[in-house]
Amino acid sequence: MTGRFDLRLLYSREDIAAVVRALAKRIAADYAGKDLLVVGVLKGAVIFLADLIRELTIPVEIDFIGLSSYGDGVTSCGEVEVTAFPAAPIEGRHVLVVEDIVDTGLCLDALLKFLAARSPASVRVCALMVKPARHRVGVEIAYAGFAIPDKFVVGYGLDFAQRYRHLPQIYTLEEAPVEGQLASND
Ligand code: 5GP
Ligand code: MG
Ligand code: MG
Repeated sequence: MTGRFDLRLLYSREDIAAVVRALAKRIAADYAGKDLLVVGVLKGAVIFLADLIRELTIPVEIDFIGLSSYGDGVTSCGEVEVTAFPAAPIEGRHVLVVEDIVDTGLCLDALLKFLAARSPASVRVCALMVKPARHRVGVEIAYAGFAIPDKFVVGYGLDFAQRYRHLPQIYTLEEAPVEGQLASND
């Protein structure tokens, strides 16, 4: 992506809150009475995780994992490396991975392999957004929020070149029309 961008609102605060509440309700019911470790994927999932755990009615432990990938920040990662390791023990725990968005699924696939190698009792994934048309590997997402079209989204933790994470709502990043082209259109 080059040039100027426009932000177009995709999901409002209310849309997001309703989906977060619905996901939290299902998760709380499924993990009632269990020792749950919630692992957020840095940095994009931080805001979602913070809202999600406050809607859970069960106690949880939280931790984070950092992934690095080759890419320009718009296209997805090809090769994935774990750059920040969770401090919490994984072995024998019920782990819930919290992701901002699953695009090709390659990041998640690498993450699930990393976790599986540490012998958890179970692993499930909660993703605020999924792009079903773009999935390239078969990763199961037990708790999926919004299914979105093949568009690049920002806000509510998600960035473009480290910008826009702080926005409380979710926007699509649209290429702004080039001035002058507009004038010559009519
Ligand atoms: P995947 O490995 O599933 O293709 O990509 C996952 C990661 O790519 C996400 O966790 C996110 O960091 C980044 N990503 C994929 N799609 C988008 C998007 O539409 N907006 C933003 N901001 N990041 C995205
Ligand atoms: Mg992510
Ligand atoms: Mg990013």
